[in-house]
Parts: sequence; structure tokens; C-alpha cells
Amino acid sequence: MRPLRNALPAVLSALAACASPATLDEGGLELFVLGRAQDGGLPHLGCEREACCAAARRSGRIETPACLGIHDPASGALWLVEATPAIEAQVAALHAMTGTRERGRRPVDGLLVTHAHLGHYLGLAWLGREVAATEAMPLFVSTRFAEYLRTNGPWSQLVALAQVEPRPFAPGSRFVLRDGLEIEAISVPHRDEFSDTVAFKVRGPRRTVLFCPDVDAWDRHEGLLERLLDGVDVAYLDATFFDGRELPERVRAEIPHPPMVDTMARLEGFAREHAGAVRFIHLNHTNPAWNDDALRAAIEARGFAIAQVGERVLL
Ligand SMILES: [Zn+2]
Ligand SMILES: [Zn+2]
Repeated sequence: MRPLRNALPAVLSALAACASPATLDEGGLELFVLGRAQDGGLPHLGCEREACCAAARRSGRIETPACLGIHDPASGALWLVEATPAIEAQVAALHAMTGTRERGRRPVDGLLVTHAHLGHYLGLAWLGREVAATEAMPLFVSTRFAEYLRTNGPWSQLVALAQVEPRPFAPGSRFVLRDGLEIEAISVPHRDEFSDTVAFKVRGPRRTVLFCPDVDAWDRHEGLLERLLDGVDVAYLDATFFDGRELPERVRAEIPHPPMVDTMARLEGFAREHAGAVRFIHLNHTNPAWNDDALRAAIEARGFAIAQVGERVLL
């Protein structure tokens, strides 16, 4: 395995990639950030903290759970990474960003889902007969996750009515969405009550993007962070908590995540060399990086970035 500092060769600065009006090369693909919050989004049900939710309500600011969209301009194909409770707004945004129109009951051409926690898969319910009533929507989930969907309502109805068509993968394996667009599903440690959990490496013709929104700890699996970042140009990483002090100890024990300060310490040298390549996503509503401009500036000064909704990476 390449050492970490060399793990992102010829890194494109994600900032440049996202801000760039660059046109796509022939055969190129584009990837968009459609949401960047933890599962509960922002405002967060029941939260009355002045610093986040009350302010968000006053300003009308809404942040939706972490989600990516992938677009193949040549064919018009769209894929969604995560089916969040905000799936309608996120698909509408993806359609608007890509100039997509009139897709009817096939709003996207497939979905990839990392794990069965509410912010990541509840949106599948919108594919059922109450809403979109999709037909054989390809659904890329792990084998265990597919079995969970098949055997537990209300998800079992989606499978029984063939509104979704599970395409199970084994964690650790790779599969192809179209020529030149390969997905690698990498097992990560997380609270696996109903499914196991993966991160996705999305390999396009030119660039590779990592999406790892939920992980309990970088140390739980030997060499995990290095393996995740190997060969990656842009990495979207779990930023649930900033330094862990946002929540009581009891909650942190029940919902472990590597704090951003720890992840930044591990990737310090790398981020200095490849500014903007490591981009934080899946921010809990309590994370001070939402609203503290000085803190965000300090994060950026060290070469890291908070993912922005609407940013684009050319794959
Ligand atoms: Zn989550
Ligand atoms: Zn989770």
C-alpha cells in the first residue's frame, strides 16, 4: 500500500474542481454534493440550541442529510448515493443542476446506499406506491442490507412489488454502473444493527471520490484510513462531531465517531500538500463548524474544507 502522504496522487484541488466552470471532457462524468448534514439534518427535531437550530429556523436555513448525485451527461443517466428523508428535494436539486426534465417515475437510474440508518435509507419509502411507485429501480446495497429489506416491512413491499430491484454486493467488492464508472464498497466499522456499513469509492474515467459519511473509529480496522484514501482525489469524510465536546459523554459513547480534530491531526501533512481534497460531510446539528466562521476559516487554513451543497467534482 502506498504511504498516506502519497495516497492521493496528482490531487486535483476539490475547491478548484468545484468552483471550476470547466466543461466535461467527452466520456466524463460529474458528481454533486446534494446534502451535508448528519441523519437528522438541520434544524434538528427537538433541538432548542440557540447556536444552531433556532438560528437556522429564523434564517430559514435547512440542511439535508449527506447525499451525492452522479450524472453521465452522454446518456443522461443519474445515480443517487444515499436515499435520505430529503430525497424529493435532493433529486429535484440534482435534476435542476443537470438540466434533467420529465423523468416521471424513474427519477434516477439507480441508488447506492451505505447502511440502514435513517438518514441514509429512509428515502427508499418514497419509491413505493404512495409516492413515485418506481419500476425495478436498481438498488445497490450490501448482501446483508438487501436481506434486511427483503424480510422487513415496509421495505419488503418495495421488493415484493418490484419497485426496487436489489443488486447486492459483498463488502470489499467492486461493481460497475456503466463503462468507466466503477464503485468499490469498503467495509467500515459502525453500529450495524440492521445492516453492515460501507464507504464508497466512486472511480470515474479521470478521478476517484471517496464517500465515507459514517464510521465509528479510524483505528477499529487496521489501516482503514489509508485504505480508504488510497488512490482518491477527493475524500468526503465523517464530520459528525468537531471535537466531541458538543455532546455529553454518554451520547458520545453510544454514537461514536472520530472527531474532526482527530481526523485533521491524522491528515495534517496530507492536507497541507493537497488543499481542499479532504472535505468534511455528515455534520451533526451540534457541530460548531456550521456557524462559527472563525473556526471554519481555521479549518480551511489547514487545508481542509467543509463540503458545500451544490459543489461539483468532475469524475
Ligand atoms: Zn449517518
Ligand atoms: Zn449511521
